[in-house]
Amino acid sequence: MRTPLMAGNWKMFKSVRESVAMVTALRPKIDGVTGVDVLVAPTFLAVPAVAAALEGSGIHVAAQNCHWEREGAFTGEVSAAMIRDAGAGWVIVGHSERRTLFGETDLSVNRKLRAAITATLTPIVCIGETLDEREGGQTHDVLDRQIQRGLDGVTGAELAALVIAYEPVWAIGTGRTATPEQAQDAHAHIRGRLTQWFGSDAAARCRVLYGGSVKPDNVATLMAQPDVDGALIGGASLDVDSFTRIVKFRVA
Ligand code: PEP
Repeated sequence: MRTPLMAGNWKMFKSVRESVAMVTALRPKIDGVTGVDVLVAPTFLAVPAVAAALEGSGIHVAAQNCHWEREGAFTGEVSAAMIRDAGAGWVIVGHSERRTLFGETDLSVNRKLRAAITATLTPIVCIGETLDEREGGQTHDVLDRQIQRGLDGVTGAELAALVIAYEPVWAIGTGRTATPEQAQDAHAHIRGRLTQWFGSDAAARCRVLYGGSVKPDNVATLMAQPDVDGALIGGASLDVDSFTRIVKFRVA
């Protein structure tokens, strides 16, 4: 029911030219791969050129953030409608780097998520606990709070279409991956709460990605977990060969 999604988050890496070169090289390498959706999230500046380079490929393009207003006096911000107009169909909201470095809260995540849905962008909503929270036994409580507040006002139909990325903060960019068991435990908990709050049909359709140091050699064991529906990949998505190997996770 849930097609796996491999989503590359390029963060503040790659110029426009480098971004286009990357997808131009990636496209033929994964042409013909079936049963997996693929997405790249370049910087805002590279979205139009990457979208143009990927036209007709089936590879999706996302922005990494959006503002919740359609337009206005918000210097330095980009709206969801502008992202849609620039050629992306998706947007990442609430990445832990945005939460910790740029002061995003569950409330701002919720506003952005609703703006994305209004602009017909598919949101990828990031949630996850810090190391202190995990070691304090608070992982499930943190996830509950982030889901409850972040997805406030979202309907079951909207939930079914969006994507949640479970990203334990201690695993992002650290080379320290959650074990498949830790990932499955968190994903099963998330799916349970989605079932409780949005209904079993919507919860069964909503894709929950794992993120945190996913690499070509650990992706298959993570993907073998029943509630892991794909990955949000940072570092390993910046290189054509490693991202290709992740997309082709079924080919050992
Ligand atoms: C991310 O950027 O969401 C991420 C998980 O990064 P990395 O794969 O580098 O840990």
